[in-house]
Amino acid sequence: MAYSEQVREAFRAELEGIREKGLYKEERLIHSPQSADIRVEYPEGAEVREVINLCSNNYLGLSSHPEVIRAAHEGLDARGYGMSSVRFICGTQDIHRKLEHALSEFLDTEDTILFPSCMDANAGVFEAILGPEDVMISDRLVHASIIDGIRLCKAMHDTYKHANMKHLEQKLEEHQDKRLRMIITDGVFSMDGDLAPLDEIVALAQKYDAMVFVDDSHASGFIGKTGRGTPEHFGVMGKIDIITTTLGKGLGGASGGCVAGRQEIVDLCRQRARPYLFSNSVAPPIISASLKVLEILSATTERRDRLEENARFWRQGLSEAGFVIKAGDSPIVPIMLFNAKLAQDFARDLYEQGIYVTGFFFPVVPAGQARIRTQLSADHDIPMLESALVKFKAIGDKHGILGLDKKAIIAKFGL
Ligand SMILES: *Cc1c(COP(=O)(O)O)cnc(C)c1O
Repeated sequence: MAYSEQVREAFRAELEGIREKGLYKEERLIHSPQSADIRVEYPEGAEVREVINLCSNNYLGLSSHPEVIRAAHEGLDARGYGMSSVRFICGTQDIHRKLEHALSEFLDTEDTILFPSCMDANAGVFEAILGPEDVMISDRLVHASIIDGIRLCKAMHDTYKHANMKHLEQKLEEHQDKRLRMIITDGVFSMDGDLAPLDEIVALAQKYDAMVFVDDSHASGFIGKTGRGTPEHFGVMGKIDIITTTLGKGLGGASGGCVAGRQEIVDLCRQRARPYLFSNSVAPPIISASLKVLEILSATTERRDRLEENARFWRQGLSEAGFVIKAGDSPIVPIMLFNAKLAQDFARDLYEQGIYVTGFFFPVVPAGQARIRTQLSADHDIPMLESALVKFKAIGDKHGILGLDKKAIIAKFGL
């Protein structure tokens, strides 16, 4: 250990500062496969208990699906454990291209390029295609990985107010002198569960000669009639220039991401995107399992339909119980509590009742907008959600918030 006590003290003080602000993130140890009901040890050393999981991104319940697991085993047996190479040296198998083709077909794009994660896709894509004479115009609530990708790119950056089309139009007008304009948005916003109005965005892009970039990580596989994502929901499939998404949420939940879109964009990424060029190939078992996921989703919409039903039931149940929830069409259902401490207490009380949820507060969401974000899965069933609802009501009652609106909750608990 080389660093001095003085340096150690400085780091410790920083950690203490995070704790004092109530921002220290604790991890809970799961002793079972990812699922709607899991066995959890929390805090570390405590007895392992069964809880209903309402905070995973396992939207389609495919993370531990027997057919997906079997496909991963088959991939492992047929193509090995790892590639020990980046794609362009000796890390591309036939199945990597097969998955890229399958994703292009699924997302209705000209081609697709895989990345180790969607974080990496977003980190690499802007720098690969835009330069100092271009402008990136992003929604103010885009995901952290997009913000990092924007930082790495030399193009000019501007933002528009969340989902505000008037403001976006104004920005597009302002930037008519740039070589290229790119509108950048999430398809589904992860903290609020609302959808970007892609039909209006595409219309503005056509009017002002701009490209459209959509990160559909919280939509691929389940938003839209056949689960193709927000472009399908808004009737603009094939009109989005660049879609990035993850294999780590609805589409199996392991890891991997991609950039799908116009041929030239994908080709430029293959030549220039740094996380693609300098990070390892996605492992064969994940590729093989992801192919199975797309096969399952292309054969039947049963899982996305069940997810939609579960989300509808859950939203309605929470509303009727008197909670303030964010309206939306996604399986992300935030229960607004506004006060950070209340959100933390609420999550802790629910855990005691066998419900696993997480409280979100600043800086993950804006100050004064603390919440419990619940996420539905096709793996939940109605009896399970009914029993969860009983517990939410009990804890809501305990804190005296049922039936209170935003103003009343803030008056009672402060911000
Ligand atoms: C989760 C998420 C990512 C990151 O995906 P990984 O594949 O886990 O890196 C990127 N963008 C959005 C919008 C996300 O929700």
